[in-house]
Amino acid sequence: MKSYPVTILLSVLILGCSGPYRQLSTDKKAKNVILLIGDGMGLAQASAAFYFQEEEPNFMRFPVIGLHRNPPTDALITDSAAGATAFSTGYKSYNAAIGVDSNAVSRETILEMAAARGKSTGVIATSSITHATPASFFAHTAHRDSAEAIASQLPYSPVNFFAGGGLQFFNQRSDKANYLDSLAAQGFMVNTETLERPAKLRPEGKYGYLLAPDGMPKMQEGRGDFLPQATHLALGHLSQDKDGFFLMVEGSQIDWGGHDNDAEYVIQETLDFDKAIGVAMDFAEKDGNTLVIVTADHETGGMSLSAAEVRMQRDYRHIRPTFSTGGHSASLIPVYAYGPGAELFGGIYQNNDIFDKMAQAFRMK
Ligand code: MG
Ligand code: ZN
Repeated sequence: MKSYPVTILLSVLILGCSGPYRQLSTDKKAKNVILLIGDGMGLAQASAAFYFQEEEPNFMRFPVIGLHRNPPTDALITDSAAGATAFSTGYKSYNAAIGVDSNAVSRETILEMAAARGKSTGVIATSSITHATPASFFAHTAHRDSAEAIASQLPYSPVNFFAGGGLQFFNQRSDKANYLDSLAAQGFMVNTETLERPAKLRPEGKYGYLLAPDGMPKMQEGRGDFLPQATHLALGHLSQDKDGFFLMVEGSQIDWGGHDNDAEYVIQETLDFDKAIGVAMDFAEKDGNTLVIVTADHETGGMSLSAAEVRMQRDYRHIRPTFSTGGHSASLIPVYAYGPGAELFGGIYQNNDIFDKMAQAFRMK
């Protein structure tokens, strides 16, 4: 009987403390935001990082987890263009939309807003840099298929650092124009051969890496540590800006493995993406003013970490991933957050709310 009021009193004290503490942590502004998108990376794909490598996955380092709902305006299941446009502009749009709303009207992206406030910006992908996900942060076109049109917008965008594939859309174009020249004219130092760190990364310099004609090679075909290294290089450059930065990093090919229903492809790409997450988290933990968000646009393949089956017998000691579709699926998608503003990312919300939460963490609204 006697312990009862004591318990009540204690819980009142604890609850009373949690309020101001929570407020304090959201009160801190994020100077930098790193958004990492694993294209097609649902919970099964991320879970693969827990089963198919020795080390503890970097997914473990996030204190806040949420889920986003991702239907576009014209369907139940999203593509990568509408998915990334929801993140980048805060507008849900139709499948294939790049940085435009459902009426095909251009909308300012979080990258452009960050640049307008003096921050440096970067985009990195293992696809062509003109592919739907990265494009949705710096370009505006009615349809994702116009890779050349997207490439022609990059030199005039506020991007300070980019790395990925897609060289042919700059220098082997149907209109014969050479947009490598345009990039140079706009102050970019472009490397088309290696992910080499320039002797000196000038704070005001602009750097671009176009290391494949279209998509970068698969991990299984020897891409090596391009993604974590490019992330490291970008952070070294962008963090020189005293006003902060916005960086988007995409593990593009998790989606492609899903479309192929190729479990090994998905797993290798996810483990590589996990390494890039590790680079971002190492930076953010040291920096203390950086919000890191990891999520996906949608799930691809309806992947499941199924038990292996031998002659109709399920073997719970072995996992043999299976797929239910060659396309995308409609499942809710995990969001992992760390750093100032991370609290905003708990719960279940729409994909375009991620834009608002990033803007709020940045104190842009
Ligand atoms: Mg993509
Ligand atoms: Zn896809």
